[in-house]
Amino acid sequence: SLRIRNLYKKFDGNTVLEDVSLQVNQGEIVTIIGPSGAGKTTLLRCINHLEQCDGGTIEIGSQYLCKDSKAGAVYCSKGELAAIRKKIGYVFQSFHLFPHLSVLENLMAALIQVNGMKRETAEKKAMDLLVQLDLGEKARMYPYQLSGGQQQRVAIARACALEPMVMCFDEPTSALDPEMRGGIVNIIQGLATQKMAILIITHDMVFAKAVSHRIIFLENGRLMAEGKREHQFKDLDNERLLHYVNVE
Ligand code: ATP
Repeated sequence: SLRIRNLYKKFDGNTVLEDVSLQVNQGEIVTIIGPSGAGKTTLLRCINHLEQCDGGTIEIGSQYLCKDSKAGAVYCSKGELAAIRKKIGYVFQSFHLFPHLSVLENLMAALIQVNGMKRETAEKKAMDLLVQLDLGEKARMYPYQLSGGQQQRVAIARACALEPMVMCFDEPTSALDPEMRGGIVNIIQGLATQKMAILIITHDMVFAKAVSHRIIFLENGRLMAEGKREHQFKDLDNERLLHYVNVE
């Protein structure tokens, strides 16, 4: 699971995340929504150690990326960081595929470089994953030869190759037409069924309601409210929030 407690982050003296606490359990899909500039991307970047937070605790599985102390967040050692990195997958909005590698090689690179897998074993595992995501026929193609939705599935397959405990998605529907939204909902729900903990940031409320177990509203760096699927997200009870959730 992913556990965040009392997270603080400042940029040039401006507080961007303020006392953020949240937990995502294995098999759970949690989505963070909120206006532009609320701090959503910064939160994902702190979890993935692309930014350092100023205070707070981030725990992944039973390992601490950082722990709160009086002097701020204390980060783990480099050795621990390498182990923690393997537990988190991140699918970027712009996919970040290697353009000079085929689809198959994109997946194999992660397995060989990060997991130290042998070439043949990596190839077999990569191919299995591609077939699972209905990309078997695209294995020898290059990213530029694929549609946006296909590139995204490759990015998801690549992140899944390392079998992370926690998977983060940044705006997963931004490159998709409405029809393909259903496809990504199925893929993400499939990952949750395999007991991954999933954290998503999005502006897309239709998608958020379709995919999530919980939706959390972030504004001005603070978690303002939370809605649950079992209550049809009606527990986002503040008028303005309900409006945001229903209209956007
Ligand atoms: P959007 O939905 O528009 O992507 P967001 O909720 O993801 O917005 P963030 O990108 O996390 O918001 O930004 C939160 C705030 O932090 C913004 O005010 C932004 O200007 C500021 N910020 C983000 N990154 C930096 C940085 N590297 N240096 C300074 N300020 C930053």
